[in-house]
Amino acid sequence: MQSKTKQRNAECKFIFVTGGVMSGLGKGVTTSSTAKLLQLAGYKVSCAKIDPYVNYDAGTMNPVAHGEVFVTDDGGECDMDIGNYERFIDMPMTKDHNITTGRVYMDVIKAEREGKYLGQCVQIIPHVTDAIKNALRKISTDEQLDIMVVECGGTVGDIESLPFLEAFRQMELEHGLSNTLFIHVTLAPVLDVVGEQKTKPTQHSVQELRRIGIQPDLLAVRCKAPLSTEARRKISLFASVEEKCVISCHDAPSIYKVPEVLESQGTLKAIAERLSLGRSTSKWGNWKAIADSFSNYKGSVKIAVVGKYVTLPDSYVSVYHALSHAGAGIGRKVEIQWIDSEQFENGGEKNISTLGGFDGILVPGGFGKRGSEGIILAANYARKNDIPYLGICFGFQLAIVAFARNVCNLSGANSTELEPHTKNPIIDFMPEQRTIHDMGGTMRLGSHEISVSSGTRAAKVYGSTLIKRRHRHRYEFNQHYLDLISKAGLVLSAHSDSRKRMEILEIPGHRFYFAVQYHAEFSSRPGRPEESFDAFVRAAARVKI
Ligand code: GLN
Repeated sequence: MQSKTKQRNAECKFIFVTGGVMSGLGKGVTTSSTAKLLQLAGYKVSCAKIDPYVNYDAGTMNPVAHGEVFVTDDGGECDMDIGNYERFIDMPMTKDHNITTGRVYMDVIKAEREGKYLGQCVQIIPHVTDAIKNALRKISTDEQLDIMVVECGGTVGDIESLPFLEAFRQMELEHGLSNTLFIHVTLAPVLDVVGEQKTKPTQHSVQELRRIGIQPDLLAVRCKAPLSTEARRKISLFASVEEKCVISCHDAPSIYKVPEVLESQGTLKAIAERLSLGRSTSKWGNWKAIADSFSNYKGSVKIAVVGKYVTLPDSYVSVYHALSHAGAGIGRKVEIQWIDSEQFENGGEKNISTLGGFDGILVPGGFGKRGSEGIILAANYARKNDIPYLGICFGFQLAIVAFARNVCNLSGANSTELEPHTKNPIIDFMPEQRTIHDMGGTMRLGSHEISVSSGTRAAKVYGSTLIKRRHRHRYEFNQHYLDLISKAGLVLSAHSDSRKRMEILEIPGHRFYFAVQYHAEFSSRPGRPEESFDAFVRAAARVKI
């Protein structure tokens, strides 16, 4: 028994984050902030996200319904929370860090077909739960983690999440109480003018969790104003969680302040006690200054984001963060207006000249024809009116279409994604993509090396001639047109895959006209904005590089 305990203490500890009451409470931020606190205390920490839906990954899901698809270095098409983890703990995640029901079942069924369960009836318990536990343990051993914070998507009580919660419950049993900890995120709403924080939703959701065998150790209670003493006392009593472990997660000026909100209530100490951790103080380094830079603004800069999925800002959440990182870096609040590109089309609601009122125009990624003509108009407007422009992926491709049509007079130039039989296919399928018919995980994905041509604006922006960035696309610039557009003044200033594909475009003489085939937004971090975002926001704010 003695040796067993000892051996287990050397293992990774697991913190499970579940959610109650309703979605959208910021479980991802609680998970990231908890991981950050532990990282600042000197532990090797990482996070994982469980998405109980049946899709294999987030790649085929509609961004307007589900939010952005975040791409990892190894080409995983992941839930957007993985982006939060990377931004907080600044550690690259792999696709293994996003576990879905689809992935777990795929593994189990594959093993069954290979005869690995020969003779057995394959069941949710133990086979599916074993696959879940193994997936989590594999990350912790492969990466030699001290602590792993595992967030379960959805809300307790969902049918889909049951096997995952059951796996967590089993892990508590197998790894022991000092190696596992449960944080439950709930809500204390205020309904009337009296301002009383209601605790009943928390009570009910904890009961639901207990019903499946999990007693939370910590409650992270979302509320607008700090949780009252009375509400804390009540929650503690009904949920059977010590008062010091009922944490008020009230509104903060920026998400990066949440680790401090947690720490000010002794969260790290409570976790350290429960998990028998030796270190329970955070060494903040420059984190507090970085977090403060998101509320200490000296001015603002107005950016129009012209895209297809603007009805849900979460569709472009990494773009939003990358812009705010760049703004915070120069003390400017980035005021974003999300504009549906379709509104510029065919005498729509908005005239393209409304873009003249912005300091910069950004076109993010996108797929399909709807709204593409509006984007082409916006890219052209920015070029003609010397307004700083940053194009990302679709915004890179359509900036080339706009240039070809308006400067090179290539009539009907287009991307074959939008017009398969265009007579000037200036953006075309990557040759490797022609034989691919499946939709999931088949784009050109993940991190690729990019050579930046020296002497260009791109080389100045990056301060390097070799970078690595993440991709997610099927189409690319068709180099049959390279001579033509180069002669007309568009510089393609970076390439990859031995010059097979072009990665950056720029227009010399323009205040800032810059577009990238890759997704620069995924590489941006608080305190270290991605370089093209930094240069774009500086140009928009007229701050020197
Ligand atoms: N639809 C384009 C392509 O597949 C651009 C993709 C994107 O913006 N992520 O190449």
